[in-house]
Amino acid sequence: WSAETIAVVTGANRGIGFDIARQLAGHGLTVILTSRDTGVGIEAAKVLQEGGLNVDVHQLDILDDESVSEFTKWIKEKYGGVDILINNAGVNYNLGSGNSMEFSKQMIETNYYGTKNMVKAMIPLMRPSATGARIVNVSSRLGKLNGRRSRIEDEALREKLSNLETLSEELIDNMVSTFLQQVEDNTWQSGGWPQKFTDYAVSKLAVNLYSVLMANQLADRPEGRKIYINCYCPGWVRTAMTGWSGNVSAEHAADTGVWLALLPNKEVTGKLFAERRELKL
Ligand code: NDP
Repeated sequence: WSAETIAVVTGANRGIGFDIARQLAGHGLTVILTSRDTGVGIEAAKVLQEGGLNVDVHQLDILDDESVSEFTKWIKEKYGGVDILINNAGVNYNLGSGNSMEFSKQMIETNYYGTKNMVKAMIPLMRPSATGARIVNVSSRLGKLNGRRSRIEDEALREKLSNLETLSEELIDNMVSTFLQQVEDNTWQSGGWPQKFTDYAVSKLAVNLYSVLMANQLADRPEGRKIYINCYCPGWVRTAMTGWSGNVSAEHAADTGVWLALLPNKEVTGKLFAERRELKL
């Protein structure tokens, strides 16, 4: 890796994203630290730049189409393309109490649609390379299709989501809109959704499934133009998101994401990881 390798990190002004930016830059890459607040981003980048790291900074709100397109234009003009995208930006207003459903829409919008916006905006900019370009989505094991507590109870839907023949963007979009409709109607409790952190779990399930789908679609690209896309769960992390109640540091949480971004094994794509190990979705 060299300063020629361009890595974009979303929501990198704090928390896990900041540590991912720090660690990637520590490997000698050029990191574009993005932040939805310009001033906060500049301050965060300054900390890394003063440590001698190769870090540039730009405003980016993954939910704001204008911001995404302005960022896309800027990076294309300044760097000519992107090699690594880390979709880290995310929100969670549900600390498991089950009564924060009013925030469901914002969580699904940011965590799923925002991530999707970035994947779609950056793929055309991803540069040819022998190692393949990389996309890493910071997700969660709460978004497992078959998890002990995160299982989707509707067997027919689960089957369709598990099968690459039937999995589609439309199916994932329909899943999240059905969920949001049930939230609005206050019928979600009997909808067969994950039992804990429900709205957050659904948003991350959508991210995990979208990654599987994209990995499959991108697999057709010719050698030299490959793009690999994976997700990982950073664990329960001491950041603002958990009210600093997690059991691992942001530094530790960043590790698997950085490892996935720099993984020499090119064949790894469409998988969910935690602690550098694959988890069954
Ligand atoms: P933080 O709340 O500390 O950081 C979240 C980051 O996302 C902030 O930089 C925030 O920006 C940014 N963000 C939120 N919305 C947007 C948006 N629309 N556009 C751009 N940036 C945005 O949380 P963490 O560091 O803990 O979380 C990082 C990722 O890790 C998230 O995807 C989260 O879901 C995931 N995760 C975290 C876990 C944990 O235990 N903490 C567990 C599992 C997954 P701003 O500062 O402006 O608000």
